[in-house]
Amino acid sequence: MASGNAIRGSRVGAGPMGEAERGETAPRIWISFYCCNGHETKPSFASEAQIPETWDCPRCGFPAGPDQDNPPAPPRTEPYKTHLAYVRERRSDEDGEAILAEALAKLRGEA
Ligand SMILES: [Zn+2]
Repeated sequence: MASGNAIRGSRVGAGPMGEAERGETAPRIWISFYCCNGHETKPSFASEAQIPETWDCPRCGFPAGPDQDNPPAPPRTEPYKTHLAYVRERRSDEDGEAILAEALAKLRGEA
């Protein structure tokens, strides 16, 4: 249990991003990413590395993209909204109530 912290600590101290190796490794480039909250983050990459399409914003945790005018949407709310809209399109409120009543009746029957 205590070993978890020890491993973490040693990784931070001797991380692969350490500046000490700078002279031997490929030059680094900095890419700006923008999240939908207007935060800018500039992680560095080895110039040979593949640049990811999105980067997690360190300030709000939302995905950030290289296009400032068109940042990626937050991943957690979009599918939920889309699904809800889809359900609403498919079923009227009346249908929803009937289905709910049926489900409740089944639950009561089993209990
Ligand atoms: Zn952000």
